[in-house]
Amino acid sequence: MAAVLSVRRVACPHCGSQTRIAKTKQLAKTCREITCHCENDQCGCVFVAEITPVRILSPSAIPDPDIFIPLSRHIDLKRLQGELFNPVARA
Ligand SMILES: [Zn+2]
Repeated sequence: MAAVLSVRRVACPHCGSQTRIAKTKQLAKTCREITCHCENDQCGCVFVAEITPVRILSPSAIPDPDIFIPLSRHIDLKRLQGELFNPVARA
């Protein structure tokens, strides 16, 4: 299943204006490149950015074994272990 790109807003790094995403390219399962055009006519900046997940806030119920993304520090590991070994209590 291909990842769906849903980025609402990427600010221009130079003027802070909203940009338009003109092109996207999937580089890897966890990395997508986007080409952004600044909508400020006085600026005109065009840049390439990458979108990469950096940490997990809520683990997937169907994890891909080939993907490793670190868990956020805020996750209560003891509670997560309890939910994994007792999935009925998760609902
Ligand atoms: Zn700009």
